[in-house]
Amino acid sequence: MAQPALDLVIAALEKIRESNNRLPRASMRALAQLQAVPAVPAHPLALRTAHATAADVVESVVPSGQPPTPNKAELLEPIRERVRACTKCPHLACSRTQTVFGVGNPDADVMFIGEAPGVDEDQQGEPFVGRAGQLLTKIIKAMNFAREDVYIANILKCRPDMPSGSFGNRAPTPAEMQTCRPYLVEQIDVIQPKVLVALGAVAVEGLLGMRGTMRELRGRWHAYNGIPLMITYHPAYLLRNQAPSEKRKVWEDMLEVLERLDRPITERQRNYFL
Ligand code: URA
Repeated sequence: MAQPALDLVIAALEKIRESNNRLPRASMRALAQLQAVPAVPAHPLALRTAHATAADVVESVVPSGQPPTPNKAELLEPIRERVRACTKCPHLACSRTQTVFGVGNPDADVMFIGEAPGVDEDQQGEPFVGRAGQLLTKIIKAMNFAREDVYIANILKCRPDMPSGSFGNRAPTPAEMQTCRPYLVEQIDVIQPKVLVALGAVAVEGLLGMRGTMRELRGRWHAYNGIPLMITYHPAYLLRNQAPSEKRKVWEDMLEVLERLDRPITERQRNYFL
């Protein structure tokens, strides 16, 4: 049976092969599409349809010369570079050892957001690597994820500076959070996780610009830009307050996250206490 559309495309592909010395290939789907075009176009309009379909297929099988679409990891790189060079908060740019951009899987389903790097994170250039970070990693593992499966970032990419000679960490100021927030917004826009988890009231304030007590905020769904957002206690709070009831609250929030992600939850996980 005559297949004018198919013939047309084959002729076009052969021309490309001869003139460019390349081997263009047509997918099975494209060939099936072409075969479905009526064999004998009875009307000029039908003929035009056949030509248009053939042209579309050639377009889809011949490399168009456009660079391939960058993946999420590639899209994060220029943001990381801008963060690395950032001096918007001159006092932090002077005091930091390095910026702490974020870590994990750029294709993650779940993204954890903390407040700011502490002394350990400033030293190592990675968020949540100190004591609070170890507890966060334990929570992530109890959820049946590896740390590498999720994405972890902070509102601030620099460690809040401390008066010289003093120890510990301080909370970021509203001005610092407002200045740094656009970087996090860009990270979220690229990663597009299915669920966001804000760790503590400072992270909530930095992300949503909303102040509230954790009693009011945690344990229920909020949204950021259409992405479901779970608010839970910061792991540093659990280190200060070891009450099993507080740990259980965080774990219940994480069970909510797993349910939202349609992840299987075992009986052991349901009864788990951090
Ligand atoms: N606390 C945070 O909020 N972020 C970190 O990276 C470490 C501790």
